[in-house]
Amino acid sequence: MGASEIAENWRKVREQVPRAVEVVAVSKTKPMEAVVSAYGAGARSFGENRVQELVGKHEALTAEPSPRASEFRDLRWHQIGTLQKNKVKYIAPFVGLIHAVDQEALLEEINKRAAKHQRKIAVLLQLHIAQEASKFGLSADGLSSILERLTAGQWPHVEVKGLMGMATFTSDTAQVGREFRTLRRLYDRHAADRHWDTLSMGMSGDWRIAVEEGSTMVRIGSAIFGAR
Ligand SMILES: *Cc1c(COP(=O)(O)O)cnc(C)c1O
Repeated sequence: MGASEIAENWRKVREQVPRAVEVVAVSKTKPMEAVVSAYGAGARSFGENRVQELVGKHEALTAEPSPRASEFRDLRWHQIGTLQKNKVKYIAPFVGLIHAVDQEALLEEINKRAAKHQRKIAVLLQLHIAQEASKFGLSADGLSSILERLTAGQWPHVEVKGLMGMATFTSDTAQVGREFRTLRRLYDRHAADRHWDTLSMGMSGDWRIAVEEGSTMVRIGSAIFGAR
């Protein structure tokens, strides 16, 4: 897809999604120039799900002393997919937000790597809301256990900003709505006390439903960059 088409798609998406909802442009599998085009049109948050690809794009565009780093100063990288523990170290120096944290062991590792770089890493806890067994995420009990540990001060270099979830891939919009609502209710239960501000739900195919159900951040790939 050409630069002008990507720019046009970005503007359309940005126009349709309410102003208060952040749009993460999901650039996974797309070339660097696609990121450059969307950035040029105003996108600032980019989502990747493979660490190797994320690191490659970071090194080419945003890592100091990349010659282009000053051009992309406001670009924020989001790790949106399942993250393996042994890959955390590669993104720890620069990642802006990790969306899909669903294990204490992963929090442990993110905390350790963040400490090494003397920073705090922002994360979202992924909840399992879909009917499909293949979708990852914490149960409500798993969430409670993590929240207790956070309260106790474990993982001081991790900053939990909220929750993330993926609905079932189905044309049954009522079901998708119910799943997002479940997540929204869990979010509401904790957001004020814990100073959360991010509820990441909604993709190209279901963001309208997610926004209706209270999403604050949508992750949009194919509607901006074309089919993968
Ligand atoms: C790929 C991906 C998206 C974007 O999907 P589209 O349907 O292309 O918008 C959003 N979230 C996650 C976790 C993804 O892996």
